[in-house]
Amino acid sequence: MAFKSAVSTALVVAVLASTTVLASEEVNLYSARKEELIKPLLDRFSDQTGITINLVTGDADALLQRLQSEGRNSPADLLITTDAGRLHRAMEAGVTQAVTSDALLQGVPAAYREPNGHWYGLSLRARPIFYVKEKVSPTELSSYEDLADPKWAGRICIRSSGNIYNQSLVASMIAHSGEQKSEQWAAGLVKNLARSPKGGDRDQIKAAAAGECDIAVANTYYYGGMLNSNDEAEHQAAAKVAIFWPNQSDRGTHVNVSGAALTAHARNRDNAVKLMEFLVQPESQSWYAEVNYEYPVRDGVAWSDLLQQWGRFKSDNLNLSQLGKYNSQAVMIMDRAGWK
Ligand code: FE
Repeated sequence: MAFKSAVSTALVVAVLASTTVLASEEVNLYSARKEELIKPLLDRFSDQTGITINLVTGDADALLQRLQSEGRNSPADLLITTDAGRLHRAMEAGVTQAVTSDALLQGVPAAYREPNGHWYGLSLRARPIFYVKEKVSPTELSSYEDLADPKWAGRICIRSSGNIYNQSLVASMIAHSGEQKSEQWAAGLVKNLARSPKGGDRDQIKAAAAGECDIAVANTYYYGGMLNSNDEAEHQAAAKVAIFWPNQSDRGTHVNVSGAALTAHARNRDNAVKLMEFLVQPESQSWYAEVNYEYPVRDGVAWSDLLQQWGRFKSDNLNLSQLGKYNSQAVMIMDRAGWK
């Protein structure tokens, strides 16, 4: 009897001790992704591990600024943001640190992570061409380079050069063909624009559907969001266009990622790495990609039905850290080309 009560006392103490340990286990996450795109996955992680996640969401550029101004006092352990160009900026700003593990290396193909481990892609998006089905035959389309051909004069919609997505697209061209060819291309593209750049990616597709232009350049998940939109006008606009995958006979269509970076001064380093590893597991990959009409970065994870309908395509296998490397050159080229 005495022995039994000693055992149960020991058990109670052990349970209390483990509860105390669990309560102090946490990860402070700064996320540029909207809460609904990530919270359910974070909750699943917390349920499985007992690690609490303190989530701060905000605008991508504002979060980076905040990390920089907080410096070593920043509570953040992990940064989740979109575009390899931005992830590279965070690395250059000194707010990230390299991390590597078998799970991360196996989960994320080499092209979608920074070679030293300063950031890892979590989801993939492509930036193809969208054409108005009534006006353009896909046989007229071929590559991004072809968008500078005079046959497209006054027929193209694309957003401003201030946007990181276009900067990364141009950076990919610099990486492949050099600065001079890329600048000639940008100048040709600007000549072909139907209007001075304005609005976001969805607005380019809407303008094409409304007859302002015949082709638009946009990220795939915006198109997915429009096709599934409750807003009937948005849905109908998307239904008027189709995807064309450019550069299938050479380097492939330009792709980019959303990704995660361990912060330079992470206090909860091990837990933050656990969370990164969790996010690249096959089950997480499938959910995370599907919720925003993105592609998983991990090989072998099934695509959603919608993405399968859009078809398989050859993607550019350039290491995406190159997009950051050539970002400032891309900005200068676009500026000189008169890309507003
Ligand atoms: Fe976006």
